[in-house]
Amino acid sequence: MNSSDQLFINGTWLSAVDGATREIFNPATNEVITLVSDASLSDTEKAIHAARTAFDSGPWPRLTATERATYLFKLADLIEAQAEALAMVETRNSGKPLREARYDVADASACFRYYAGLITKPSGETYAVPDPNILAMTVREPIGVCAQIIPWNYPFLMAAWKLAPGLAAGNCCILKPAETTPLSAIELFNLIAQLNFPPGSVQLLLGSGPTVGNLLAESPLVDKIAFTGSTKTGRSIMRAATGNIKKVTLELGGKSPNIVFADADLNLALEYALFAIFAGQGQVCTAGSRLLLQDTLAETFLPRLAEASRCIVVGDGMNPDTEMGPLISPLQLERVQAYIQSGLAEGAQLLCGGQRINTPECERGNFLEPTIFVHTHPCMKIVQEEIFGPVLVVQLFHDEAEAISLANDSVYGLAAGVFTSDTTKGLRVLKQLRAGITWLNTYHPTFNEAPWGGYKQSGIGRELGTYGLDAYLEIKQININLAPQPLGWYRKCFS
Ligand code: ADP
Repeated sequence: MNSSDQLFINGTWLSAVDGATREIFNPATNEVITLVSDASLSDTEKAIHAARTAFDSGPWPRLTATERATYLFKLADLIEAQAEALAMVETRNSGKPLREARYDVADASACFRYYAGLITKPSGETYAVPDPNILAMTVREPIGVCAQIIPWNYPFLMAAWKLAPGLAAGNCCILKPAETTPLSAIELFNLIAQLNFPPGSVQLLLGSGPTVGNLLAESPLVDKIAFTGSTKTGRSIMRAATGNIKKVTLELGGKSPNIVFADADLNLALEYALFAIFAGQGQVCTAGSRLLLQDTLAETFLPRLAEASRCIVVGDGMNPDTEMGPLISPLQLERVQAYIQSGLAEGAQLLCGGQRINTPECERGNFLEPTIFVHTHPCMKIVQEEIFGPVLVVQLFHDEAEAISLANDSVYGLAAGVFTSDTTKGLRVLKQLRAGITWLNTYHPTFNEAPWGGYKQSGIGRELGTYGLDAYLEIKQININLAPQPLGWYRKCFS
């Protein structure tokens, strides 16, 4: 592979036809790490055609499930063997602390294993139809060419969440990473190339969202688009996908409530309140970005929360002591700072944080203090909009009914947490929350085995688990006549 060839199309590494490249930065220093190929529309067409041909006449969809699973198991092995190197690439490019990147890489390899296993398990059903001479059944078949557009917050893990079920199901895939974070995907495709996946079964396309991404969403040759990212971009993708009625899966934004009742284990609730918002620098779709706190706790809990937030070690993710890294880009830092200004302008008060960090270690990167707002009102922008940064807003509630009403007062419905020692109350509350992923006395655990996705404007469909595989499969009904007889419907013609 030539160092400037980072588009993987039809089993070959290529550079962009017009030779275009893009600078990739380290968010901890804003230094350029490297240049990567930047695909044009004509590279995109090439990738789409390669996937189309591979799906229509190539081997990948025609391999047995066991054969496809073998490729994916081997890929999981290679990821595991390279885990530390992959984690370091991820941290340098995304800024996330190394401990988080290590977790993501392990989870990605487990995801390939999970879908490699799942695809060989029984699927399809038979039906007891009201005709004894008909055997009715279903089989699952791949959808076709699947374009998969992923964001910059979990570059390696999102690639696995998309490719593992897509490929296991027998689709031919085109992965488009975010502009800022392509490096771990390039490493993943180096492993895919080593394993000689059949040409066209899987492509890597690096390029801009509004051009390359939009063409993937629009193309009549693409059968499905799977997207993780902002609700605004999800809306645009959904519109673009209408031309050929593409299958669409969207995992979008959130403004998830984390509800702490006065009877909770408060040490546990405190640590999870921090983890819910500050893991991934708050650039996490399921971030617990609204802390709903029972009002009787305010006086004791909030000072402890502020104190603990000030102790979080912020720095370069490569430093083993780092607990929170930089935001992805100067642009993202600016967006988050604008939200902090808006919160102040609307009358909220800072409990802690709010400033860019200018210590010698941090001054060149996009570092922001862990930030918490109190004295908020449900109408404020910082309470309603997804900030996608380390900014927590606290909302006080008086009783269970108010907690539920505040929690559901959002256009989003991705995740929610509840902390209480009263399990019955916890379950009662969870059941009334309009959210796709909920946690009782924990926050953020994510399992390859369980479905992931949101209610309301947080998305369409589910990833992970058996639902995540279904999202890459068509269902075909097959009816077999066990006693063929003349129909007798057109008597004159057949008498
Ligand atoms: P951000 O605004 O923080 O970059 P996005 O949700 O826009 O977040 O980006 C997530 C992914 O969506 C990226 O891979 C990006 O390139 C892609 N993208 C952005 N705009 C579009 C678009 N109009 N059509 C398709 N993909 C897009």
